[in-house]
Amino acid sequence: MLSLKRRFIRTVPRPVKRAACMVALYGGKRHCPVCGHSFRKFMPAGDPPRLEARCPSCDALERHRLLWRYLQEKTRFFQSGGARMLHVAAEVCFESRWRPMIGSGYVTADLMRPADVKMDITDIRFPDNEFDIIYCSHVLEHVPDDRKAMREFNRVLKPSGFALLLVPITTDVTFEDPSITDEQERVRLFGQKDHVRCYGPDYMDRLREAGFIVEVTRPSDFLQPEEIERLAIGTAAAGELYHCAKSTG
Ligand SMILES: [Zn+2]
Repeated sequence: MLSLKRRFIRTVPRPVKRAACMVALYGGKRHCPVCGHSFRKFMPAGDPPRLEARCPSCDALERHRLLWRYLQEKTRFFQSGGARMLHVAAEVCFESRWRPMIGSGYVTADLMRPADVKMDITDIRFPDNEFDIIYCSHVLEHVPDDRKAMREFNRVLKPSGFALLLVPITTDVTFEDPSITDEQERVRLFGQKDHVRCYGPDYMDRLREAGFIVEVTRPSDFLQPEEIERLAIGTAAAGELYHCAKSTG
């Protein structure tokens, strides 16, 4: 039975809740590079909850804030107007900013939710060498044949382009077992009822087998400790960035 307070909160429209959170969390200790707002602290998210995870303004999580800074510092992404980009399972905080920036070459794809293209990433209905940029984050751990999806991403990426294919790394060695279909067992073993594996650092080997040259970047590789603290991306939840270029050899 929900308490009266929680029942009331559920009736409050989302924009009103968002505005109230932004006022309540007003401050300068934390900063979200995605929306450009600063706060006293971020909001909790996840189960079990991570205390400083979600931006009260744009909903960006730790990994989104890290990616934004990476794109600013290590790529020419923000000069990509006119590029051809494939964005799989698009996050609202990114799509609302990237679509107007990139223009008509920007394509969102999703198998379950509304998107420009309904797409199974193991069967991408685009020609070879189509995209300058591919971004797919926290999707491959849901896909039974992830190797095929990686090969498809490689096929549709231009030789001059790059793909950011991000997954949670949660164990020492990748573990999967297709016979496990029970949701409770998947939660116990893979962390979520719709996950089909846990990835370890050997994730990179699968990307290489699919034909990519892979470069891994962590927050401390390009950001000062003060900024990592201010963006609250110093925990494992921020993850690592896997930059994939097409091997031409
Ligand atoms: Zn934000």
